[in-house]
Amino acid sequence: MSETFTMTLDGKAVSGESRFGVVNPATGEVFAEAPDCSKTQLDSAMDAAQRAFASWKKDESKRRQALVECANALKTRAAEVAQVLTQEQGKPLAKAMEETIGGVVWFQVTAGLQIPVDVITETPDLRVEVRRKPYGVVGAITPWNFPLLLAIWKIAPALLAGNTIVLKPSPFTPLSTLKLGEILRDVLPAGVVNTISGGDQLGAWVSDHPAVRKISFTGSVATGKKIAIAAAPDLKRVTLELGGNDPAIVLDDVDPKEVAQKLFWGAFENCGQVCSAIKRLYVAESVYPAIVSEIAALAKSVKVGNGLEQGTQLGPINNRPQFQRVRELVEDARQHGAKFVAGGSPAGDGGYFFEPTIVTEVAEGVRIVDEEQFGPALPIMPFRRVEDAIERANATHFGLSGSVWSRDAVRASEIASQLECGTAWVNQHLAIRPDAPFGGCKWSGIGYENGPYGLAAFTELQTLNVAKG
Ligand code: NAD
Repeated sequence: MSETFTMTLDGKAVSGESRFGVVNPATGEVFAEAPDCSKTQLDSAMDAAQRAFASWKKDESKRRQALVECANALKTRAAEVAQVLTQEQGKPLAKAMEETIGGVVWFQVTAGLQIPVDVITETPDLRVEVRRKPYGVVGAITPWNFPLLLAIWKIAPALLAGNTIVLKPSPFTPLSTLKLGEILRDVLPAGVVNTISGGDQLGAWVSDHPAVRKISFTGSVATGKKIAIAAAPDLKRVTLELGGNDPAIVLDDVDPKEVAQKLFWGAFENCGQVCSAIKRLYVAESVYPAIVSEIAALAKSVKVGNGLEQGTQLGPINNRPQFQRVRELVEDARQHGAKFVAGGSPAGDGGYFFEPTIVTEVAEGVRIVDEEQFGPALPIMPFRRVEDAIERANATHFGLSGSVWSRDAVRASEIASQLECGTAWVNQHLAIRPDAPFGGCKWSGIGYENGPYGLAAFTELQTLNVAKG
């Protein structure tokens, strides 16, 4: 165990009073430790964020410049960050680098967003305008699938809007966020970004803390609901980016070979651990056999392995509980008579590897279809009438994203617009952009991240109504 990871509190490196182990999912072994933030340390992080807010909120152009400097600082140390990310998360190193550079881009694009002032009326006697003001201290809580990028989705707009932030990553992947804190320490005034690490209890303390005015959370539906409850007594504002069970609907006019590759990666990117990955695939009967066999062939040929090894395309599942969950859903499908045209079992010894798994002969009512599997196992189901596919796609509490695939983009767009979800794609999936809002309908969330709408989520309105006298 070599590198020492520290939290960033009030611009300083802080160790925990105790520490916890972080497991490399490719080996199943602890490879580093993270500080376990105490309640007292959390209080000092909140104090620091509150103190920093007083001056940070004042100068918008300084904040804009600071985000550009954050981008540059992260870019300079991208290789180091990506290495840690692969070790704690499991994803291939090239993908960890993509995530890190994605973070750089998110800082840059956010730095260019405007904080608008809307003039409602302007007469010789009266001016009424609407301004956007920061909340104060943002409590941010993130999951383990894209720990670095999702942290930056919060940090960049929160800071541009004039807030300060206390950020708690998942206990499964705290290290890349702690490293980001370390990098930003040299760029930002003390207290503006505080990174702390610990378990779920620390998340509960953050959402309960009186200094926090806004909670920005990404994670599961179950935790999102707990946070909404914790926020209520203090009327803290919340943005909740929660789970999904994304449908993709493939129409009868596609070229199976052409779309299979995109569908496969829409489902298996990051080993299926993407909130908006394809988690249910509905395919028109006439092309169903061809699509199943193309996707199964890809599942069998993809290289699964340690993310640090060259050529690895899919890493392990990130952690033991999630590995067990995927295993359980696959077993449940087996017991319900499902057929596995690829995979179906854990892979390798040591680490949380699972074969890329394609499941057929399942339908609604079986857990792998009804629940979010969040792993490398995809059910593919045929449909006869497109109206039925739309109905089945929408018959869920989830509503994060969805996609429709066809040679006829107009027909596909019309069908996509009937999906009950925050993002509807046509002939693509997972095309998430820094300039477009991303968020969920129904249980998939409240509010939006990214672009002008995401920035707005870190502000509240003030109507300034001036009688010019
Ligand atoms: P999780 O809800 O278990 O944990 C997320 C974070 O919440 C962690 O930091 C955890 O420590 C913290 N936490 C746990 N209990 C808490 C509590 N009571 N109060 C406050 N914080 C608490 O989720 P996960 O397993 O880390 O992530 C996977 C889930 O995240 C999936 O459902 C996935 O779809 C979702 N996700 C959503 C998006 C999105 O943008 N909509 C993006 C990525 C992941």
